Amino acid sequence: MTDIELLCSKAEADCAPAFERILKVYRANTEKVMDAFAECKVSENLFAGTAGYGYDDRGRDTLDLLYAKVMGTEDALVRHHFMNGSHAIATALYALLRPGDLLLAATGDPYDTLMPVILGDNCGSLKELGVGYSMIPLEGEDHPGRVEKAVRELSPAAVLIQRSRGYASRPALSPDYINDLCDRIHSIKPGCRVIVDNCYGEFTQTVEPYRADLICGSLIKNPGGGLAPNGGYVAGRKECVELAAYRLGVPGSGREVGSNPFGYRLYYQGLFAAPQAVSEALKTSVFAARVLELAGFEPSPDYDAECYDIIRAINFGSPEPMLAFIRGIQSGAPVDSFVTPEPWDMPGYDDPVVMAAGAFVQGASIELSADGPMRPPYTAFLQGGLTYESGRLGIIRALKEILKDR
Ligand SMILES: *Cc1c(COP(=O)(O)O)cnc(C)c1O
Repeated sequence: MTDIELLCSKAEADCAPAFERILKVYRANTEKVMDAFAECKVSENLFAGTAGYGYDDRGRDTLDLLYAKVMGTEDALVRHHFMNGSHAIATALYALLRPGDLLLAATGDPYDTLMPVILGDNCGSLKELGVGYSMIPLEGEDHPGRVEKAVRELSPAAVLIQRSRGYASRPALSPDYINDLCDRIHSIKPGCRVIVDNCYGEFTQTVEPYRADLICGSLIKNPGGGLAPNGGYVAGRKECVELAAYRLGVPGSGREVGSNPFGYRLYYQGLFAAPQAVSEALKTSVFAARVLELAGFEPSPDYDAECYDIIRAINFGSPEPMLAFIRGIQSGAPVDSFVTPEPWDMPGYDDPVVMAAGAFVQGASIELSADGPMRPPYTAFLQGGLTYESGRLGIIRALKEILKDR
């Protein structure tokens, strides 16, 4: 066996206990999803496309109900009309905030694409509408205590919590931790709305942060199961979901309108496939963490740690090994394996971003992908992998590409 093969078989053996935990979560989530499908009496007639206003679109309305059951919330709004996850989160923010209100970001500055929504100039940002902004870092002592203090002192109308690490060197948060934060915030200020950016977190555990007023995510990540071609969701308390529908559509008609000529099959099938897709992605991620650690790099979180999102950060320290890793992941993709990723100025991001994404759905990061902003400490964020075997192969190709440069 070659050195790389030896490294991989050792890594895989070490991963056995983590794989066992992932399987348990996969089973529990499959049961949850199957129960929801049964309760919603999903049948083929719900998959058909609709046209025009989309009044009484049963495929659309049942999909909402299905998501609400799976997320453990009162209600949900699942739409291909959400352009991406950022749009779903921004819709939640605009839906729940009014001029003179304060938004508190409780887990550090939110994801890069949301900063212009909150603080941008000449773009209709929340700031321009008269919404204030304050932020508490996640790092440091007694984070829940600091959030409580800020809610008491600043009396925010809404608090934004990000579950996943995003492009930051912070840990992902467990649903239990977020649910506890929601309870603390609501007990200090009952009317305060908690919005959770749930991107990358869905189905990594057996519950979602359902005690938030709204949780939001992208359908080309976890809950779309690699099949949904676009879209986003918001789920949560009925009145908050209603307000989000008025914001996505218009006040008055809200969710009563909105057709989908292409039909809903892939959104239903994607949700069905999501627990498996997430489990394959998690296994790929755990394997990558162990093998890269054995090769001398420092992935975070550790391969044996509990997973609260599907992201693995790998610190490369300089541009070259990071670019080699990204090139290797690209070469292991089913689509565009022959292209060489280059850093580019992606809309909504401050620094050039380099991205390996050879996906069937453009930019779908539930498919094996790796990306990161080209800024110190040159951290690549790895996520996805619809099948463990293809994910594993991608990681091995990336490892070969890095070790070639050494
Ligand atoms: C992906 C992501 C978003 C939304 O990104 P889109 O590219 O707009 O779908 C928001 N927050 C986090 C933490 C994310 O990972």
